[in-house]
Amino acid sequence: MKNTLAKTNDAPDSKAGHFSRRRFLSATGVAAAAVWLNPRSLFADDTSPVIIIRQAAATAKINVQKLRGNVSVLVGSGGNIAVLTGRDGKLLMDASITASRPRITEALASLSADPVKHLINSHWHFDHTDGNEWLHSVGAEITAHENTRKHLSTTTRVEGWNFAFPPAPAGALPTKLFASEETLHLNGATLALKYYPPAHTDSDISVEFTDADILHVADTWWNGHFPFIDYSTGGSIDGAIRAAEANVARVTDKTIVIPGHGPVGNKSQLVEFHDMLVSVREKVSALKQQGKSLDEVVAAKPTADYDTKWGGYVIDGKTFTALVYAGV
Ligand SMILES: [Zn+2]
Repeated sequence: MKNTLAKTNDAPDSKAGHFSRRRFLSATGVAAAAVWLNPRSLFADDTSPVIIIRQAAATAKINVQKLRGNVSVLVGSGGNIAVLTGRDGKLLMDASITASRPRITEALASLSADPVKHLINSHWHFDHTDGNEWLHSVGAEITAHENTRKHLSTTTRVEGWNFAFPPAPAGALPTKLFASEETLHLNGATLALKYYPPAHTDSDISVEFTDADILHVADTWWNGHFPFIDYSTGGSIDGAIRAAEANVARVTDKTIVIPGHGPVGNKSQLVEFHDMLVSVREKVSALKQQGKSLDEVVAAKPTADYDTKWGGYVIDGKTFTALVYAGV
Protein backbone atom coordinates (compact mmCIF):
# COMPACT_ATOMS: atom_id res chain seq x y z
CA MET A 1 0.00 0.00 0.00
CA LYS A 2 1.09 3.52 -0.59
CA ASN A 3 1.20 5.89 2.29
CA THR A 4 -2.42 6.84 2.66
CA LEU A 5 -2.28 9.63 5.18
CA ALA A 6 -2.22 13.22 4.12
CA LYS A 7 0.19 15.66 5.67
CA THR A 8 2.62 13.11 7.03
CA ASN A 9 5.34 14.30 4.77
CA ASP A 10 8.11 13.74 7.25
CA ALA A 11 7.90 10.02 6.81
CA PRO A 12 6.50 9.13 3.42
CA ASP A 13 7.36 5.47 3.84
CA SER A 14 5.76 5.08 7.20
CA LYS A 15 3.22 2.36 7.55
CA ALA A 16 1.69 4.04 10.53
CA GLY A 17 -0.99 5.78 8.56
CA HIS A 18 -2.40 2.63 7.12
CA PHE A 19 -5.57 1.08 8.22
CA SER A 20 -5.05 -2.38 9.38
CA ARG A 21 -7.16 -4.53 7.12
CA ARG A 22 -7.37 -7.17 9.77
CA ARG A 23 -8.66 -4.74 12.34
CA PHE A 24 -11.12 -3.26 9.91
CA LEU A 25 -12.63 -6.61 9.18
CA SER A 26 -12.78 -7.53 12.81
CA ALA A 27 -14.31 -4.24 13.61
CA THR A 28 -17.10 -4.55 11.16
CA GLY A 29 -18.10 -7.74 12.82
CA VAL A 30 -17.51 -9.60 9.66
CA ALA A 31 -17.48 -12.67 11.47
CA ALA A 32 -16.65 -14.37 8.30
CA ALA A 33 -13.69 -16.18 9.58
CA ALA A 34 -12.67 -17.26 6.15
CA VAL A 35 -12.09 -13.68 5.13
CA TRP A 36 -10.26 -13.17 8.32
CA LEU A 37 -7.89 -15.96 8.46
CA ASN A 38 -6.10 -14.95 5.35
CA PRO A 39 -7.33 -11.66 3.98
CA ARG A 40 -4.46 -11.41 1.54
CA SER A 41 -5.67 -14.45 -0.27
CA LEU A 42 -8.95 -12.70 -0.97
CA PHE A 43 -8.01 -9.09 -1.48
CA ALA A 44 -5.38 -7.34 -3.48
CA ASP A 45 -2.71 -5.86 -1.28
CA ASP A 46 -3.87 -2.31 -1.82
CA THR A 47 -7.58 -2.95 -1.42
CA SER A 48 -9.12 0.03 0.31
CA PRO A 49 -10.95 -0.58 3.58
CA VAL A 50 -13.91 0.99 1.78
CA ILE A 51 -14.18 -2.04 -0.49
CA ILE A 52 -13.70 -4.41 2.40
CA ILE A 53 -16.26 -2.78 4.63
CA ARG A 54 -18.83 -2.74 1.83
CA GLN A 55 -18.29 -6.45 1.30
CA ALA A 56 -18.51 -7.03 5.02
CA ALA A 57 -21.86 -5.26 5.15
CA ALA A 58 -23.41 -7.95 2.99
CA THR A 59 -23.34 -10.37 5.90
CA ALA A 60 -23.20 -8.08 8.94
CA LYS A 61 -25.85 -8.72 11.59
CA ILE A 62 -27.97 -5.79 12.74
CA ASN A 63 -28.92 -5.47 16.39
CA VAL A 64 -32.01 -3.48 17.31
CA GLN A 65 -31.88 -1.59 20.61
CA LYS A 66 -34.87 0.36 21.95
CA LEU A 67 -33.70 3.48 23.75
CA ARG A 68 -36.39 5.84 25.07
CA GLY A 69 -39.73 7.10 23.79
CA ASN A 70 -40.10 6.04 20.18
CA VAL A 71 -36.37 6.15 19.47
CA SER A 72 -34.33 3.04 18.72
CA VAL A 73 -30.92 2.35 17.27
CA LEU A 74 -29.68 -0.20 14.76
CA VAL A 75 -26.10 -1.27 15.40
CA GLY A 76 -23.93 -3.58 13.36
CA SER A 77 -23.23 -2.35 9.84
CA GLY A 78 -21.63 0.98 9.02
CA GLY A 79 -22.51 3.90 11.27
CA ASN A 80 -25.15 3.50 13.97
CA ILE A 81 -28.68 4.27 12.73
CA ALA A 82 -31.09 6.08 15.04
CA VAL A 83 -34.76 5.42 14.22
CA LEU A 84 -37.75 7.51 15.27
CA THR A 85 -41.04 5.73 14.60
CA GLY A 86 -44.56 7.14 14.36
CA ARG A 87 -47.48 8.27 12.23
CA ASP A 88 -45.41 10.65 10.13
CA GLY A 89 -43.31 7.73 8.96
CA LYS A 90 -39.98 6.53 10.22
CA LEU A 91 -37.10 8.93 10.48
CA LEU A 92 -33.59 7.49 10.22
CA MET A 93 -30.40 9.21 11.17
CA ASP A 94 -27.90 7.65 8.81
CA ALA A 95 -28.27 5.20 6.00
CA SER A 96 -25.47 2.70 6.59
CA ILE A 97 -24.24 0.58 3.70
CA THR A 98 -26.38 -0.59 0.79
CA ALA A 99 -25.25 -4.18 1.04
CA SER A 100 -27.01 -4.37 4.42
CA ARG A 101 -30.37 -3.36 2.95
CA PRO A 102 -32.12 -6.71 3.53
CA ARG A 103 -31.15 -6.84 7.20
CA ILE A 104 -31.84 -3.15 7.77
CA THR A 105 -35.26 -3.58 6.16
CA GLU A 106 -35.95 -6.51 8.45
CA ALA A 107 -34.80 -4.58 11.52
CA LEU A 108 -36.95 -1.58 10.62
CA ALA A 109 -39.99 -3.80 10.10
CA SER A 110 -39.46 -5.29 13.55
CA LEU A 111 -39.95 -1.83 15.11
CA SER A 112 -43.22 -0.80 13.42
CA ALA A 113 -45.09 -0.87 10.14
CA ASP A 114 -44.54 2.84 9.40
CA PRO A 115 -42.86 3.46 6.05
CA VAL A 116 -39.51 5.25 5.97
CA LYS A 117 -40.20 8.88 5.11
CA HIS A 118 -37.22 10.83 6.42
CA LEU A 119 -33.48 10.35 6.41
CA ILE A 120 -30.85 12.56 8.02
CA ASN A 121 -27.16 12.15 7.11
CA SER A 122 -24.83 12.78 10.06
CA HIS A 123 -22.00 13.57 7.59
CA TRP A 124 -20.96 12.59 4.09
CA HIS A 125 -18.90 9.41 4.75
CA PHE A 126 -19.92 6.31 2.82
CA ASP A 127 -20.63 4.18 5.88
CA HIS A 128 -23.37 6.71 6.79
CA THR A 129 -24.68 7.62 3.31
CA ASP A 130 -24.17 4.58 1.10
CA GLY A 131 -27.82 3.57 1.67
CA ASN A 132 -29.17 7.00 0.67
CA GLU A 133 -30.24 5.90 -2.79
CA TRP A 134 -32.32 2.91 -1.77
CA LEU A 135 -33.87 4.71 1.19
CA HIS A 136 -34.82 7.59 -1.12
CA SER A 137 -36.28 5.09 -3.59
CA VAL A 138 -38.65 3.77 -0.90
CA GLY A 139 -39.80 7.28 0.00
CA ALA A 140 -37.28 9.01 2.26
CA GLU A 141 -36.57 12.71 1.92
CA ILE A 142 -32.91 13.32 2.78
CA THR A 143 -31.76 16.13 5.10
CA ALA A 144 -28.10 17.01 5.65
CA HIS A 145 -25.58 19.77 6.08
CA GLU A 146 -24.78 21.51 2.81
CA ASN A 147 -21.21 20.15 2.83
CA THR A 148 -22.57 16.59 2.84
CA ARG A 149 -24.30 17.27 -0.45
CA LYS A 150 -21.20 19.05 -1.74
CA HIS A 151 -18.92 16.06 -1.09
CA LEU A 152 -21.46 13.53 -2.38
CA SER A 153 -21.96 15.55 -5.56
CA THR A 154 -18.38 15.40 -6.77
CA THR A 155 -15.47 12.96 -6.88
CA THR A 156 -14.03 13.08 -3.37
CA ARG A 157 -10.81 11.39 -2.41
CA VAL A 158 -10.09 10.39 1.20
CA GLU A 159 -6.35 9.91 1.62
CA GLY A 160 -6.73 8.05 4.89
CA TRP A 161 -8.81 5.40 3.12
CA ASN A 162 -6.80 5.44 -0.09
CA PHE A 163 -10.07 5.78 -1.95
CA ALA A 164 -11.75 8.22 -4.33
CA PHE A 165 -15.54 8.25 -4.18
CA PRO A 166 -17.30 8.99 -7.46
CA PRO A 167 -20.23 11.41 -7.44
CA ALA A 168 -23.29 9.79 -5.86
CA PRO A 169 -26.34 9.13 -8.05
CA ALA A 170 -28.96 11.89 -8.10
CA GLY A 171 -31.37 9.97 -5.87
CA ALA A 172 -28.72 9.70 -3.15
CA LEU A 173 -28.21 13.44 -2.78
CA PRO A 174 -29.73 15.24 0.21
CA THR A 175 -32.35 17.75 -0.91
CA LYS A 176 -33.16 19.45 2.39
CA LEU A 177 -29.99 21.32 3.28
CA PHE A 178 -29.02 23.56 6.15
CA ALA A 179 -25.92 25.48 7.21
CA SER A 180 -26.10 25.94 10.96
CA GLU A 181 -29.26 24.73 12.69
CA GLU A 182 -32.59 23.17 11.76
CA THR A 183 -35.57 22.01 13.78
CA LEU A 184 -37.95 19.24 12.75
CA HIS A 185 -41.27 18.26 14.32
CA LEU A 186 -42.21 14.68 13.55
CA ASN A 187 -44.02 11.83 15.22
CA GLY A 188 -44.75 13.99 18.25
CA ALA A 189 -41.06 14.66 18.78
CA THR A 190 -38.85 17.70 18.32
CA LEU A 191 -35.51 17.16 16.62
CA ALA A 192 -32.79 19.79 16.89
CA LEU A 193 -30.16 19.47 14.15
CA LYS A 194 -26.91 21.32 14.75
CA TYR A 195 -23.76 21.72 12.69
CA TYR A 196 -20.36 21.20 14.29
CA PRO A 197 -17.55 23.42 13.11
CA PRO A 198 -15.10 21.13 11.21
CA ALA A 199 -14.24 18.16 13.44
CA HIS A 200 -14.23 14.61 12.02
CA THR A 201 -15.08 16.15 8.61
CA ASP A 202 -16.50 19.54 7.62
CA SER A 203 -20.03 18.11 7.35
CA ASP A 204 -20.74 16.68 10.82
CA ILE A 205 -24.06 17.39 12.54
CA SER A 206 -25.69 16.28 15.75
CA VAL A 207 -29.36 15.49 16.18
CA GLU A 208 -31.02 15.90 19.54
CA PHE A 209 -34.31 14.14 20.20
CA THR A 210 -35.23 16.73 22.78
CA ASP A 211 -38.24 15.09 24.44
CA ALA A 212 -36.49 11.75 24.85
CA ASP A 213 -33.19 13.43 25.86
CA ILE A 214 -31.23 11.45 23.29
CA LEU A 215 -28.31 12.95 21.37
CA HIS A 216 -26.79 11.41 18.22
CA VAL A 217 -23.32 12.94 17.86
CA ALA A 218 -22.30 11.41 14.52
CA ASP A 219 -18.63 10.48 14.14
CA THR A 220 -17.51 13.13 16.61
CA TRP A 221 -17.61 10.18 19.01
CA TRP A 222 -16.47 6.61 18.56
CA ASN A 223 -17.36 5.01 21.85
CA GLY A 224 -14.43 2.93 23.08
CA HIS A 225 -12.41 3.31 19.87
CA PHE A 226 -9.74 5.61 18.53
CA PRO A 227 -11.62 7.67 15.91
CA PHE A 228 -10.84 8.24 12.26
CA ILE A 229 -10.16 11.87 11.38
CA ASP A 230 -10.70 12.84 7.75
CA TYR A 231 -8.20 15.56 6.92
CA SER A 232 -9.17 15.31 3.24
CA THR A 233 -12.56 16.90 3.89
CA GLY A 234 -11.83 19.33 6.68
CA GLY A 235 -11.33 17.14 9.76
CA SER A 236 -8.55 17.69 12.30
CA ILE A 237 -7.54 16.55 15.76
CA ASP A 238 -8.15 20.01 17.17
CA GLY A 239 -11.59 20.16 15.59
CA ALA A 240 -12.32 16.70 16.97
CA ILE A 241 -11.35 17.86 20.46
CA ARG A 242 -13.54 20.95 20.20
CA ALA A 243 -16.50 18.80 19.12
CA ALA A 244 -15.86 16.42 22.04
CA GLU A 245 -15.84 19.40 24.43
CA ALA A 246 -19.09 20.67 22.96
CA ASN A 247 -20.68 17.23 23.34
CA VAL A 248 -19.71 17.01 27.01
CA ALA A 249 -21.04 20.52 27.64
CA ARG A 250 -24.47 19.89 26.21
CA VAL A 251 -25.48 16.60 27.87
CA THR A 252 -26.46 15.63 31.40
CA ASP A 253 -25.97 12.38 33.25
CA LYS A 254 -29.41 11.33 32.03
CA THR A 255 -28.81 11.94 28.33
CA ILE A 256 -28.54 8.86 26.13
CA VAL A 257 -25.73 9.50 23.66
CA ILE A 258 -25.50 7.67 20.33
CA PRO A 259 -21.98 7.60 18.87
CA GLY A 260 -21.25 7.18 15.17
CA HIS A 261 -19.56 3.90 16.00
CA GLY A 262 -19.49 1.74 19.11
CA PRO A 263 -22.16 1.08 21.71
CA VAL A 264 -24.73 3.65 22.85
CA GLY A 265 -23.31 5.50 25.86
CA ASN A 266 -23.44 8.39 28.29
CA LYS A 267 -21.78 11.55 29.51
CA SER A 268 -19.02 9.92 31.53
CA GLN A 269 -17.95 7.95 28.45
CA LEU A 270 -17.96 11.16 26.39
CA VAL A 271 -15.68 12.72 29.01
CA GLU A 272 -13.36 9.74 28.87
CA PHE A 273 -13.15 10.00 25.07
CA HIS A 274 -12.44 13.72 25.24
CA ASP A 275 -9.70 13.23 27.83
CA MET A 276 -8.09 10.51 25.71
CA LEU A 277 -8.02 12.80 22.66
CA VAL A 278 -6.46 15.63 24.66
CA SER A 279 -3.85 13.41 26.29
CA VAL A 280 -2.71 11.80 23.03
CA ARG A 281 -2.65 15.17 21.29
CA GLU A 282 -0.42 16.65 24.02
CA LYS A 283 2.01 13.75 23.88
CA VAL A 284 2.24 13.69 20.07
CA SER A 285 2.53 17.46 19.85
CA ALA A 286 5.38 17.57 22.38
CA LEU A 287 7.29 14.90 20.48
CA LYS A 288 6.73 16.57 17.12
CA GLN A 289 7.93 19.89 18.53
CA GLN A 290 11.18 18.16 19.49
CA GLY A 291 11.65 17.63 15.76
CA LYS A 292 10.80 13.95 15.73
CA SER A 293 9.60 12.33 12.52
CA LEU A 294 6.34 10.39 12.37
CA ASP A 295 8.21 7.10 12.63
CA GLU A 296 10.06 8.34 15.71
CA VAL A 297 6.86 9.54 17.31
CA VAL A 298 5.13 6.23 16.59
CA ALA A 299 8.12 4.40 18.09
CA ALA A 300 7.71 6.46 21.28
CA LYS A 301 4.21 4.92 21.65
CA PRO A 302 2.30 8.01 22.76
CA THR A 303 -0.93 5.99 22.83
CA ALA A 304 0.49 3.19 25.02
CA ASP A 305 -1.79 3.97 27.97
CA TYR A 306 -4.83 3.73 25.71
CA ASP A 307 -4.10 0.99 23.21
CA THR A 308 -5.70 -1.85 25.12
CA LYS A 309 -8.97 -0.06 25.64
CA TRP A 310 -9.22 2.05 22.48
CA GLY A 311 -7.12 0.34 19.85
CA GLY A 312 -9.16 -2.74 19.08
CA TYR A 313 -11.35 -1.36 16.31
CA VAL A 314 -10.63 0.19 12.93
CA ILE A 315 -7.91 2.54 14.13
CA ASP A 316 -5.02 1.11 16.13
CA GLY A 317 -2.61 3.17 18.22
CA LYS A 318 -0.13 3.67 15.38
CA THR A 319 -2.76 4.86 12.96
CA PHE A 320 -4.26 7.19 15.54
CA THR A 321 -0.82 8.56 16.33
CA ALA A 322 -0.37 9.33 12.63
CA LEU A 323 -3.77 11.00 12.47
CA VAL A 324 -2.91 13.22 15.42
CA TYR A 325 0.63 13.92 14.12
CA ALA A 326 -0.85 15.19 10.87
CA GLY A 327 -2.71 17.91 12.73
CA VAL A 328 -0.30 19.26 15.37
ZN1 LIG B 1 -17.13 9.21 9.37
